[in-house]
Amino acid sequence: MLDFLGDLRRTHMCGGLRLSDAGKKVVLMGWVNRRRDLGQIIFVDLRDRTGVTQVVFNNELNAAVHQKAETLRNEFVIAAIGTVKRRDADTINPNIPTGEVELVVEELRLLNVSKPLPFLPSDTVLANEEMRLKYRYIDLRRDAMQFNIELRHKVALAIRENLAAQGFFEIETPFMTRSTPEGARDYLVPSRVSPGSFYALPQSPQLFKQILMISGFDKYFQIVRCFRDEDLRADRQPEFTQIDLEMSYPQPERVWEVVEGFLAAAFKAAGHEIKTPFLRMDFDDAIRQYGIDKPDLRVPAFTDVSDCFAASDLESLAINKDLPVIAIRIPHVGELSRKERDDVKPLFVSKGGARVFEDFKRIENKFPEAGTKVRERAGAAADDLLVLVVGSAQSGSSGDAHPASRRKVTPAEMAIYASAGLLRVALAQKYSDRHKLFQKGDYRFLWVTNFPMFEWDEGDKRWNAAHHPFTSPNDEDMDKLESDPAMVRALAYDVVLNGTELGSGSIRIHRQDVQSRIFHALGMTEEEARSRFGFFLEALEYGTPPHGGIALGLDRIVMILAGADSLREVIPFPKTAAAKDLMMEAPTPVAEGQLRELGIGVVKKI
Ligand code: ASP
Repeated sequence: MLDFLGDLRRTHMCGGLRLSDAGKKVVLMGWVNRRRDLGQIIFVDLRDRTGVTQVVFNNELNAAVHQKAETLRNEFVIAAIGTVKRRDADTINPNIPTGEVELVVEELRLLNVSKPLPFLPSDTVLANEEMRLKYRYIDLRRDAMQFNIELRHKVALAIRENLAAQGFFEIETPFMTRSTPEGARDYLVPSRVSPGSFYALPQSPQLFKQILMISGFDKYFQIVRCFRDEDLRADRQPEFTQIDLEMSYPQPERVWEVVEGFLAAAFKAAGHEIKTPFLRMDFDDAIRQYGIDKPDLRVPAFTDVSDCFAASDLESLAINKDLPVIAIRIPHVGELSRKERDDVKPLFVSKGGARVFEDFKRIENKFPEAGTKVRERAGAAADDLLVLVVGSAQSGSSGDAHPASRRKVTPAEMAIYASAGLLRVALAQKYSDRHKLFQKGDYRFLWVTNFPMFEWDEGDKRWNAAHHPFTSPNDEDMDKLESDPAMVRALAYDVVLNGTELGSGSIRIHRQDVQSRIFHALGMTEEEARSRFGFFLEALEYGTPPHGGIALGLDRIVMILAGADSLREVIPFPKTAAAKDLMMEAPTPVAEGQLRELGIGVVKKI
């Protein structure tokens, strides 16, 4: 028989009682986390989101309450009314904050029962992920999930407060929109009143936030859900949350200051002090030192050691001497054994004919002079691992004909750097127990800037916007838009943390004439541009101030702060890799009538 809550009020939370409360009469409410029946005495760990308190039912003191407590099972919901008592010295539990006290129960109200559970919140071994997502409400009761969701709340709150203090308004933008070109597929919502027409869920509020600048709001932000229909990887969700902001009249550095401000506040909310301003690096330098535009600065940069070798050395090793010879150094890993070298081979992803020499000893034995120079140049200690990534002699510099071949880093060089960059990270991860470079709480932030404006699409033989088509070219490169698009740099920037891109943004185009030139450079005709973004191009013509902004992934930031390895650990109701919600079983087919009303017929996909 269940009891009513009636007008009974909770006086304390289960994690809140301390020795100083001894003697007080209190009312706790929560779940039976665990029950131990010792015959005359029954102990229950009573749990709510703040922790557990041991509550005691003593047959000698109160037989009726004790008898009722015998019916309690895991995850029953109860109210325990009683007196806080200091625990005997030998029963103190130093592992929990309430461990010095217990509640001696005088009245028990059984507020609800629970069926036997598929798994328990207190289980130390985790249920498999499918079960966890199907029974998400139980999974969320676990300490770890309670911690992560609370952390998410604190981080988001700190960001809101900080941005408000920096003069930003939080302004909502619609979810039922026209698609904005962020490069992914849209989720579509059919319109009933305009049959055959669809809204798109926003991939980002990009155009709205720019329009808010045209409207004079000066500084906008929003912690906002965005939707992208992409093939999911471990670190993606079809709906995810961005910290989206835009401001008027900024240089890139001004946007960075704002971001550094709220990130420092967010990290502080999670108990970490971070140093600002963050390091800054040109895209070209990031590529030349790390082979990637989101370098993990905890691992040493690699080094181009091509000039440590005599031309004849390179020739005899069949190395392309016109391309970089990259030495990757991972400290304290040591030379690899033959078996380890075999394990390393599959880690190497060769781009543009790049080759790997994972046995540096062999090269050193053959060319001792070059070997010494390489060690010196790479700053390698005796117990460091050295691996070389090179272009193969046969591959030539095939990138010469590439439209981007005049860039500081040519496409052929880029392939070598990129192969080396991937291997550097893979090696660092594989041997992380040896080098200890990945320390908890070691946060290396970085701004990567001066990205190329355009990327060459080899399939379509045309230039694509590397960020998005509303990104401003660097003022100095404006005259190259038509004549030399490869060399145009964008006023775009990414903020990177330990090898993860947290967010990206740019200074925008605020002049209609420049915007038209960009569309033109992207191979879009005036009509195409007008039909896709006509409203926006028109808005640009009514006194648009210079403006810029950025968007950062909140889920990812919280994931890093929680030390979690999947976004699903910090999103209360996430989707699976197949974009499914296993708890409510979405997506589902819908009733015929619903479809008819929308004028939609479903065709089987062949
Ligand atoms: N809208 C962009 C994105 O979602 C970010 C920005 O440029 O502000 O990636």
